[in-house]
Parts: sequence; C-alpha cells; structure tokens
Amino acid sequence: MGSTPRPHRFAIPMATRSTDVATLEQCPGKWMLTQFMETQQAEATYFELGSALHETIEATILDDLDLDTALYTMDIRLDAWIEGLEDSGKRVIETTDKTVDTVKDMADRMMRQWFIDVHPDSDKRLPIYDDYQWPPQVEHEFRRDVGLKYPIWGSVDAIFQHQNLDAGLAIVDWKSGKGRAKDFQLHFYEFGLALDVPAVGWFHQLDRKRKSAKIQMMEDDWPGTNEMLGDIAVAESTKQDLLDGWVEWNQDWWCNYCTVQEFCPVEGQDTEANDKAYIRMLSYAKPMTQPYEKKE
Ligand code: SF4
Repeated sequence: MGSTPRPHRFAIPMATRSTDVATLEQCPGKWMLTQFMETQQAEATYFELGSALHETIEATILDDLDLDTALYTMDIRLDAWIEGLEDSGKRVIETTDKTVDTVKDMADRMMRQWFIDVHPDSDKRLPIYDDYQWPPQVEHEFRRDVGLKYPIWGSVDAIFQHQNLDAGLAIVDWKSGKGRAKDFQLHFYEFGLALDVPAVGWFHQLDRKRKSAKIQMMEDDWPGTNEMLGDIAVAESTKQDLLDGWVEWNQDWWCNYCTVQEFCPVEGQDTEANDKAYIRMLSYAKPMTQPYEKKE
C-alpha cells in the first residue's frame, strides 16, 4: 500500500493507519514533513526493496505468475528505480547490507525464497501454508469507524482462509527488514477487519535463512479494545497538535535513516531555512477528514 491519496501536499490525512501510530510516536515532525515533502524526500534502498517485493508477491498471487516472470518484472522495476536515482538528484539512504549495488541481488534472493517457502508449486513449502487455501486475498483494504473522531484504515498483505473453514483466517504481513516486527501492526489489522471468525496472524520474515525464524507468530495476546483505542487516540491528537502548530522533533539514532532529514529544522543542513519553510507550509495545512479518491 502506498501513501494515502490526497488532493494536495498540505492535506493532513486524519484517518489513522498503523504506520501513523508508530511514526507519530517516534517523531511527529517527521510524520508531518513526510506528508509535505512526499515527492522530494530521500530515496531509501530498504523502502524500495520492500516495495518491489510486496508488489511482485502481489502480482505473483493475483496474476498467477511463474517465478521467472515474477523475477523479470521485479528486475525491470528495480533497474528503472536505479536509473532514475541519478536524474532525480535525491539523497539515497543505504544500510550496510542494502546498498544500491546490492538491492537487486537481495530482492532476487528473497523473491526466490518466498516462492520456495509459500507457493503451492514448491515441494519445499513451509508446512504452515499447507493448512490454508490458495490463493490468499492480497492487499485487502479495510476502513472502520471505531468510535473515535476519525476512522482507521489499512491494507493487509495477505489473508489466507484455513482449509477447515471453521478454523478461520490467517493475517500475514511480508517483512523484508531484519528487525523483529511489533505485534501492534497485526492487532491493528485484526481490529480494523472486525472479523467474526477466528484469526491468527504472523509476520513472514523474507530475509531470514533459518526455517524456524521465517514465521514470526503474533505472540502477545489481544491488548484489549481500550488499549487499542488509546494508542489510536494519541495518534489522532498528535495530528491535531500539528494542525494547531505544535510540532515535536524527537532526535535519536533514527534520524540517520530519516527520509526528510534534510528538511528538518533540528537535524537538517540549513535549520533556519527549514524552520521557516515548515512553519509556512503548516499554515497551509488542512485536515483531510474524508477519503480522497484519486482520479486516474
Ligand atoms: S531528522 Fe530526526 S528529528 Fe528531524 S524529522 Fe527526522 S526523525 Fe525527526
């Protein structure tokens, strides 16, 4: 799922996504600048790797692609991205293992492994997927009024139906990063989907080599509706604070990986100019309270 469609760069989407909760908690200023500077922000190898894998997995499931076709389409996409980097003149954020030079090989390796681990044509498929029907629903969008001021929304990478219909569903999120994912995201999906059937959830870690490390099951118990609503309400009120002109900048290690760092008034190159720029942009900001349908 890409960013929230908006009519203009100063529209602040008030409906809450799970990524909003995490980013607003980390640094509200970053969340705001990511809206305003969406097209100017830096490129990051790990975001491009994640997007390329997610789109290729989605197309492989939806269009029943074979592995060679899937790899070919992903390769073309990544070639175009790499070629475009030079023309764009944008800063590129890399990590020690995910560089512009390695991103294609990494994507190729992870996609091949995904096919082995998940696809029904593979004879080395992880047994957990044999319990579920193929194909799953992909990029399943939800939007739900949870009784707060604004709704929540999101999109689930894959929803698998158990072979035994009474056993319910599996909510699956593909992860291309190495870090341990937080259960909150899967709980948020569970909450947004408002299912009336049993559901389990897991992160499928695309970059793990050991079979036992690839499936990261949702570990924590359901935190309860009140706790979920509390987290979402904090995100809503932080957005309102931004609209009211209150911006918090949280500097920490994550600034090194921040795609809007150069526009940041506390970490950027020209902090004084950045300070003026975001205050000017904030004066144009309007809350976007309704979903916006992008015209094709
Ligand atoms: S560089 Fe750091 S302080 Fe500045 S917006 Fe990014 S995360 Fe926030």
